[in-house]
Amino acid sequence: MTVSITPEALFSPRADEPLLHLPLAELVSQTEELLERCDLFRRAARSSLYGQRWRAAGIKPELLQGRAALRRLPFLDGTDLIAMAESRDSLRKALLTRPRIWVTSRGTSGPKKWLPLTLADTAHWFARLRRVSEMLSVEPDAPIPTFVLAINEPMPRVSNALPYLWERADYLTGGQRLEFIVAAMTMLPHNHWDRFVVQKQPQWLMASVDDARRLAQELEVKASRALPGLRRGIFWSQPLDGPAGARAELESTYGLAESFSLYLSAECREMYAECPAHAGLHLWMDGVIHEIIPDGQAPAGHEPPETLFVDQAPPGTEGEYVITTFTEALPLIRYRTGDRIRVLDTAPCACGVTHPRVLFTGRMAASAA
Ligand SMILES: [Zn+2]
Repeated sequence: MTVSITPEALFSPRADEPLLHLPLAELVSQTEELLERCDLFRRAARSSLYGQRWRAAGIKPELLQGRAALRRLPFLDGTDLIAMAESRDSLRKALLTRPRIWVTSRGTSGPKKWLPLTLADTAHWFARLRRVSEMLSVEPDAPIPTFVLAINEPMPRVSNALPYLWERADYLTGGQRLEFIVAAMTMLPHNHWDRFVVQKQPQWLMASVDDARRLAQELEVKASRALPGLRRGIFWSQPLDGPAGARAELESTYGLAESFSLYLSAECREMYAECPAHAGLHLWMDGVIHEIIPDGQAPAGHEPPETLFVDQAPPGTEGEYVITTFTEALPLIRYRTGDRIRVLDTAPCACGVTHPRVLFTGRMAASAA
């Protein structure tokens, strides 16, 4: 059994609203209930990704209870997912149920990590996207419609679906009346969509940091002069803050009044965004369990590193981000994302949302993209 998504949860901001403001302790106890309701540990033990590994570590899934039990379980990382994708047989043994689609993250070269999603998993992702869309649509003076230039990435990257789902989410909830211009950088030399975009004068730009930089280089005149109507940018795949942060550069290149950082990956069907208070990205506590491996622990190959639940980590804690998901097709349990986070605060945010806030500050040194 999995988390069932009702049409209300999918399409109604009002149904979602209370969850955003629950006290942290209540969000944690909801997670405990969810763990039990989904029977996560026993269910996951049926997957070849966990069963044997757990037995070898002397773990009896039937005795595991509550999120504290997670700490006894071995970690999983990208190499396990790549190994799983090596043969049809190993994929079949890992799956808990037949998936509808497979997605992958952007990445460099080499073998990819493929993640299966059922329809329910996709619906959950859509509900998250709707939540983020709602959070970022708080813009009372926005023109109607607001034109959004979304730079798309090729299938089956998980980010390919982003502009299409975002547009539907906005449409179905009667949000900001966003009108999307979806364009791919690879098509620019062939159909010159930049000319159409300059005619349309979008107000929002959504893109990976790399694509935003490439587009600025391709525009014939300086980006802020070619697209003077742009006010907000929504950027992913690289940090906007910190030493290598791209925020100041992109805001000045495009003349943006405001920019937001977005986190999404194939492994994590959640989607996190910086809120209008610009005090970090909210990690959604409902539907995923967040741990951090604080920096300064024994190197790989030694004792398994200790973790903290992000909601219990002191502000300023930095380290590797570890997730446990409730994905129906294949939950990821203690998956080391290879992404670095810094915990900003676990107290309620100025925007009113109670879910903890972090910054994604880049990749772990030894991790491939
Ligand atoms: Zn906030």
